[in-house]
Order: sequence, then C-alpha cells, then structure tokens
Amino acid sequence: MRDSTKIVTSGRHPELYQGAVNPPVFRASSVLSQTMAEWEHKAAERAKDVPGMYYGRNGTPTTRALEEAFADLEGGYRSFVYPSGLAACVTAILAYVKAGDHILFTDSVYGPVRRLAGSFLDRFGVSSTFYDPLIGDGIASLIQPNTRVVYTEAPGSHTFEFQDIPAIAKAAHAADAVVVMDNTWATPLYYRAFEHGVDVSVQAATKYVVGHSDAMLGIVTVNRDHYDALKACTYELGQIASPDDVYLALRGMRTMHVRLPRHWETGLKLARWIAEQPEVEVVIHPALEGDPGHALWKRDCTGASGLFTFVLKPVGDGARAALIDNLKYFNVGASWGGYESLILPINPSKVRTATTWPYAGPAFRIHAGLESADDLLEDLTHGFECLRAFQV
Ligand SMILES: *Cc1c(COP(=O)(O)O)cnc(C)c1O
Repeated sequence: MRDSTKIVTSGRHPELYQGAVNPPVFRASSVLSQTMAEWEHKAAERAKDVPGMYYGRNGTPTTRALEEAFADLEGGYRSFVYPSGLAACVTAILAYVKAGDHILFTDSVYGPVRRLAGSFLDRFGVSSTFYDPLIGDGIASLIQPNTRVVYTEAPGSHTFEFQDIPAIAKAAHAADAVVVMDNTWATPLYYRAFEHGVDVSVQAATKYVVGHSDAMLGIVTVNRDHYDALKACTYELGQIASPDDVYLALRGMRTMHVRLPRHWETGLKLARWIAEQPEVEVVIHPALEGDPGHALWKRDCTGASGLFTFVLKPVGDGARAALIDNLKYFNVGASWGGYESLILPINPSKVRTATTWPYAGPAFRIHAGLESADDLLEDLTHGFECLRAFQV
C-alpha cells in the first residue's frame, strides 16, 4: 500500500461508530464496568496490552485511531501521543536513561531540548555532550561506555544541516545506544526513519500533522525493541493529549500528503528567488542543488517541507525590521507547519557549543505556506525593496 492510501485508510474503524468515517471525540476519565467479571476482564486485557478503554489517561479510541494510523505511516511498531512536540521529545529521551548515563545531542537540536540537557538532565545525573551535526560515523569517537542515547535531527532546527543518520545509527548501535530522531521537518512521508536505522522517531505533530495552527501535539513512534520502555515512561509520567487535539491531528493527517508537496514546491521557489538577491549571503535548504546537505537529502529523503533559512550579508541595525515590517503575508511567528507563511528572525551563534555559526549577518527562518507562490514572491520583492531603500 502506498503512503497516500495509508494516510487515508489507516486507523479507521467505521464499523465501531455506526458507519461514521471518523471516530467520535471520546472525552473520558472514568471508564465504567458493571460487574466484577467485567472489571477483571478489562484488567487482564490491559495486562496483555490489548488496546481498549481502561482509563482516560491511558487513551481512548480517538487516541488509538491516531496512534494506529501514525505507526503505520512511520513503519514503526507503535506510536504514543503527547500534549506537545516538546513533551514527545522529552519522553523519548527519559524513557531510555538513568542516573549516570550519557546522551549525545546534535548541536543543531531544537532549542528547548537543548535547555533540557543543560538543566533538567543534569539534576538527575544524566550528562550530555553536543556534537557537530555533520559528524557522520565520526560519532564513534564521542561515544562513552555510558552513552545510552544518540539524539539526532535531520535537517537541524534553524540551521538545516542534513545529518547522515544511517552512519550515526550504525556507530550508536555498535555501542548499544538508542537512536532517537526528531523527524518533524520531513515527516514520515519524506523520511523513512526506521529504514535509516532510527529506533525512536519523534514528530512535533503541532506542525504538519495538525497542519492548521490550531492545536499542540506530539507523537513518538518506536520499533518493537524500544516499545516497552517508552510505554512505561509515558504512563509513569502521566503523558496524554487532549482528545480534541488528537482529533484535530487525525483530521489534519488525512490531507498531509496533499499539503506537503505544495509546501515543498513553494518553499523551493522562494528559496531560489531569495538566493538570487544581492543582499543575501546564503540560503540553507537541503533540497537546493549546491546546499552542503543536498547529497544526503537526495540519498535519504523523498521530498522536502517548506521550512528553510536564509542569511543576509552584514547590514546595519534596523535592517531586519525594514524587511519584516514591510511583508504582508509573512508574519513573525514561532512554530510552523500550518497553512500560513511565516518569517522568524534567528541567531544560531548564541546557542551553538560544538560548532560555530560562520555568518555575521542577520538570519531568518521562512515557512512557506499554502498561499499563491506568486503572491509570496511579490511580497518578498517588496520587502527586499524596502530593505534596499533602508540601506542607502
Ligand atoms: C516545534 C518543534 C518541536 C516542539 O513541538 P511543540 O509542539 O512546539 O512543543 C520539536 N522539534 C522540532 C523540530 C520542532 O520544530
């Protein structure tokens, strides 16, 4: 079955809901049993890991529909949902470490996950080292006897270096470490994490899965070997997402394969245009020919999303505002993956520790939304004209 068909058919059980295509939103805390026998039967089923309705915190048929569909799409064993992408990232890490362990994080890791390493994990005796995202099989030299998790992201947040996940996974597995990947950028549609050696794949479903900027959600998918630990940690930490948000994610997911090619196409159009402007130092987008990550992207990905970064040549103070304030369709916003275009001023030089950001000029992350690419290009043309006028 091809991905498009999977996205449309997986996790659907109309026979359970009087034929309705979608599952109802189950809002449940208590789940009642009428008899002792029923109560004991449910306990036995739960112990055997049969998906069912036991208690709201352990999920409902709405939750299971998304989990089932997403595990199928990722090609993993099972998925779990979380109240945010960050909660998913954190649980995917905590499930596999104990005091005394060590984690290797890519230097291009999503910012809030980096902060976890500096504070929370330290307090529980888990040490961390950041590594150059382009390290490839060189990661072997950083693996310590107590390294339990190698955390990856391809491409990296804000800076879009494309990691050689298969090479990293090979070295990590040789040392018995778990490979966690944040696969939010490409989604399972464009990056088959499990086929590239990943054990635990994280998706900030807030982005392209929800797809409409109206809910927060995270999903973690695991292979069989890493299922038990993730399940235990998820339940122990009381991680569960709201059924309404799960429903929105399920609804968003059904059209992800229709939306993503448009984000990809428009993103590349914008990236190519921006790269031609004389004020621009560099555009970092792994799907652009000539990008340092292009060869790996081409080898491992089947598509690209609409998120990339560009850097201006050094300009005076106020230049950033001259550009941003004069854009109509690109508002400044964190998050991404919705239908709307965004621009975000970023400064990677402030956070890096294992590598240095080589550019002096201001940098911006663009999310290409689903507006007309021509309107977006006209908007950027106007923004760059204002930037030029400001400089002279
Ligand atoms: C946004 C994002 C997250 C966190 O997701 P939230 O739902 O905002 O908590 C994690 N990883 C990446 C790559 C992201 O872009």
